[in-house]
Amino acid sequence: MQGVRLVNQIGVSSFIDADLVVDASGRGAPTAALFEALKLQPPETTTIHINLCYTSAVIELPEQATKNWKLVLTLNDPPRIGDRGVLVPMEHNRWMVTICQRGRLERIDGWDSYVSAFGELITPTIHDALRQAKPIEDLRQFAFPTSSWRHFERSPRLPRGLLPIADAICRFNPIHGQGMSSAALQARLLRDALADAITESDPVAALQQGFMAEVASVLETPWAMSTSRDLMFPDTHGPRPEHFQANVEFELAMFRAAVIDPVVHKAAMDVNQLLQPRSLLRSPHIMERIEETNGVRTGWSHPEVMTGSSTFRLRTTVPRG
Ligand SMILES: Cc1cc2nc3c(=O)[nH]c(=O)nc-3n(C[C@H](O)[C@H](O)[C@H](O)COP(=O)(O)OP(=O)(O)OC[C@H]3O[C@@H](n4cnc5c(N)ncnc54)[C@H](O)[C@@H]3O)c2cc1C
Repeated sequence: MQGVRLVNQIGVSSFIDADLVVDASGRGAPTAALFEALKLQPPETTTIHINLCYTSAVIELPEQATKNWKLVLTLNDPPRIGDRGVLVPMEHNRWMVTICQRGRLERIDGWDSYVSAFGELITPTIHDALRQAKPIEDLRQFAFPTSSWRHFERSPRLPRGLLPIADAICRFNPIHGQGMSSAALQARLLRDALADAITESDPVAALQQGFMAEVASVLETPWAMSTSRDLMFPDTHGPRPEHFQANVEFELAMFRAAVIDPVVHKAAMDVNQLLQPRSLLRSPHIMERIEETNGVRTGWSHPEVMTGSSTFRLRTTVPRG
């Protein structure tokens, strides 16, 4: 690669020489176009078909409707209920409300249909509030058919001087809120890989190799966490990892414990926010609390199971008594 061609808003084009071009374009179209132009094999891609419709509105709510809420998050309930809702405060009694509908890509047709969609969620809190709401702008809708991970790290080689990053490599289902944290972790990885490569005889090649050698370890945890929840719906098309069902059962037991045990709750939140590795949830002091809440005792008889970058031993659960 020699650089990038820029075309400005009035169609004037210019060329910038560059030894390294980082493709942070979200969809990664420039990288895909370059692969095609050079007749390179596109990267292996893992695709999870989520067919998500994400619809938001800014509304005004009277103070008495919100009862001093900090925010409202109504989760889905796999595999039964696929939709979830969020209500978050803005300023001047304004709120942003979003519904994420799984398994449909059609747009919602108008405010009344929007409000009634919230009636399908697992609890009626947001639906009840919306009946007192006034929309102050049109609905904003976004269709998100697939989560996808382009495995550039498995490609034999990248075009020299090109480095895709963040969503250009891996796009997560937005409802799990992992995309920006993952992009930030990759930016940090890029900084470290640059620092390491600078003293090498071929810093550009060293950077590409250094970044790609580590990027999977940054992506595996958020990818595993977000896709496992999507794959709990039997009609979600996509490859299920090894030991998927056992991991789902563990996750459900962990959620039951997190609702009543603040220590498990904090661990689950820290892992979810990518502040701690996923293996924390399998550490003995957390496992014991999860087992206690779920009324089971366990043995260590199950073989080792891998998820993401962390290795753990899966305990088989045996009902008490
Ligand atoms: C509806 C929705 C809701 C989301 N909600 C959340 C959330 O709550 N929390 C969370 O963490 N993540 C969320 N995400 C994901 C998050 O937005 C992305 O993971 C993150 O923005 C990725 O950053 P990025 O820099 O890779 O790409 P982007 O933020 O998409 O930035 C890419 C930029 O490159 C520009 N660009 C594209 N092509 C070219 C080109 N050829 N030349 C020049 N510029 C170009 C684009 O215009 C854009 O400005 C959501 C995503 C969606 C779609």
